[in-house]
Amino acid sequence: QTYAAAEDRYEHLAYRRAGASGLDLPPLSLGLWQKFGTDYSPQTQRDILLHAFDLGITHFDNADRYGPPHRAAQQVFGTVLAKDLAPYRDELVLSTKAGNPISPSPYHKGGSRKSLLNSLDHSLRDLGTDYVDVFYHHRPDPTTPIEETVGALAGAVQQGKALYVGVSNYAPEQAHEAVVLLRAAGVPLLVHQPRYSIFDRTPETSGLIDLAARDGFGLVVYSPLAQGLLTDKYLSEIPAGARAENSAFLKPEQIDATYRERAAALNALAAERGQSLAQLAIQWVLRRPEVTSALIGASSTWQLDHNVKALDFPALTDDELKIVDEHGVH
Ligand code: NDP
Repeated sequence: QTYAAAEDRYEHLAYRRAGASGLDLPPLSLGLWQKFGTDYSPQTQRDILLHAFDLGITHFDNADRYGPPHRAAQQVFGTVLAKDLAPYRDELVLSTKAGNPISPSPYHKGGSRKSLLNSLDHSLRDLGTDYVDVFYHHRPDPTTPIEETVGALAGAVQQGKALYVGVSNYAPEQAHEAVVLLRAAGVPLLVHQPRYSIFDRTPETSGLIDLAARDGFGLVVYSPLAQGLLTDKYLSEIPAGARAENSAFLKPEQIDATYRERAAALNALAAERGQSLAQLAIQWVLRRPEVTSALIGASSTWQLDHNVKALDFPALTDDELKIVDEHGVH
């Protein structure tokens, strides 16, 4: 059936400015890392993507790696873009990334100009679009001069294949170096994509959040729900179909007694506030203005509806933040 986007799609979310740029992003963005690919129902994947857009989630995050198998998530997105979202292309912020290995080829990994620009061309074909809005280097590559990597990112913009650039998983010193080099090339760093959640405070302790404010880039933080650990789903068991059941990245061993104790305490705090742990966890990352967007995953439209409601609750008080710290930090 023909898709028509919900008329009220811009009435749900308060968009946030990415650093010192002119670009606004939704407070929640949707990533296609897991549960998008050939192993899952095309209809469910389409429903999730279209429902996200109907909720005002304009930003979709991809990478050449995402699947299974690698590249499949972008092909899924490309199919939905061609069939349903093409009329809305200019209302979408599509990102992709390159540089995380996707095959044994020396040109399918790292930060070389060849790897990055070839991957981007391939991603554009898979997505079925002439340009992405944001092109990221997926993770630092200390074996390649950063000048080459940054030159490739800037080149993607100069060639009209990307509107903005980002880096992901860069330490603050590396990110600052990229900022300086990119500025000199006339292509400011739009965003950095780090992992950040109640359970992973690295962007605070490493100084990345402070650097974002100083250097004027936004943070699009991934796994704000710690892949589902910061929801109530694992409090008593591993439910059928949940990520921890079948993922190389979230192992059943992580769901031990210590985890359950911490999650139960955070869940009790959320319940006192009349919300769920997932909603608390999303609000928590967004309390920092340097965080432009919380980049979530979803395996159902229900999860999207539920998570978007996080934005309706009052800000966490200082006392509540202390309780989060008590149980969130190991
Ligand atoms: P989250 O921490 O948001 O975890 C999302 C998963 O949690 C969902 O797929 C779902 O898993 C579960 N979930 C979501 N909402 C609920 C809910 N309300 N109740 C119960 N369970 C829920 O983020 P991800 O780890 O998925 O990462 C998000 C995105 O970040 C990725 O898609 C990718 O775009 C990006 N990313 C980037 C990386 C990088 O190196 N740059 C690395 C990792 C991610 P399920 O139902 O399957 O259990």
